[in-house]
Amino acid sequence: MRKLSPVLPVLVCLTMLSSCGDSKAASPASDPNEKSSGSLFAMDTYITVTAYGENRDAGIKAATDEISRLEKLWSVTDTASEIYAVDHADGSGTAVSPETADLLSLAIDMHGKTSGALDISLYPVLCAWGFTTGEYRVPDDSEIDELMTHTGVDRIALDGSTVTIPADMEIDLGAVAKGCSGDMAVEALKAQGVSCALLDLGGNIQTLGETKPDGTKWKIGIRDPFGDGSAATLETGEGAVITSGGYERYFEQDGVIYKHILDPKTGRPAESGLVSATAIGKEGRYCDALSTSLYVLGEEGAEKLWRESGDFDMVLISESGEFIITEGIEDSFELTVPAELRVLHR
Ligand code: ADP
Ligand code: MG
Repeated sequence: MRKLSPVLPVLVCLTMLSSCGDSKAASPASDPNEKSSGSLFAMDTYITVTAYGENRDAGIKAATDEISRLEKLWSVTDTASEIYAVDHADGSGTAVSPETADLLSLAIDMHGKTSGALDISLYPVLCAWGFTTGEYRVPDDSEIDELMTHTGVDRIALDGSTVTIPADMEIDLGAVAKGCSGDMAVEALKAQGVSCALLDLGGNIQTLGETKPDGTKWKIGIRDPFGDGSAATLETGEGAVITSGGYERYFEQDGVIYKHILDPKTGRPAESGLVSATAIGKEGRYCDALSTSLYVLGEEGAEKLWRESGDFDMVLISESGEFIITEGIEDSFELTVPAELRVLHR
């Protein structure tokens, strides 16, 4: 078994491995290979937007502004956010914007599709573990049991743009917000006339354009959970490649490692046998919801969901170091470390 790398929380867990065009070369202003990047810290992570072509600077500004706007809507700690308002409404209904209603609707829907693996009502339990603040602790069984009585996605009522949750409950969109922000940032880039861009939202990679301006596919690195750098590469067109990994945030106490993704069935860190799960598909919001869910479900549950769904591919990395990939990416996936590889076929 390869050893889990004791890395710090990851700032950027997927990396763009090859650059497109030569931004240093002297070229006319309209050279489609010219690229620029803009970065910001938002949603608790470093975000980089790289865009190509003549409208790239306006596109980057629009995309980063959009991400900042969405963070203000969805932050669970910002007292001015819509989610904060929902969480502190004492059982009454809260009117939210269409984008918040849409994301809540996706999260509720995905709770059902994933047999409850994705659960946005776990926030009080995550707080007890200290995953929201960094003040880590291991809550005792009775505390977890008590906190779990305040969860339950079926207790969230979404009626048009009005959200109502019971007074004892709090929700958090942390598992899906970055993917949805990526989708909306891509829309903002398009609205500025950008047709080729790559967004890195702290481990979530989203691309605009089937290829880079030079006609080659995007080459994305899949982070090595057992070491530094990447363990594999994936060539993709337009879409999302989103990873959830136990290595992203964890703490150790008395020789036990506690990771930040919880199993909603237990209120404790998911012990599914996976160290990382990557979802590959068209939409960031869907893949973000999936990556967290696949990680919780483990190999068997993830395979079942893949067979039922038919609209995403995945890369699972097991604790023993085995890579399990789905047939849709078989030809575009390449291991860059020695490891066992298994391909799932329909
Ligand atoms: P990251 O945000 O680290 O890239 P994820 O998209 O997988 O990774 O989101 C994980 C975050 O979602 C956790 O840090 C926590 O705030 C929250 N979370 C943990 N477990 C669950 C779960 N089972 N369902 C929904 N949200 C969860
Ligand atoms: Mg996620």
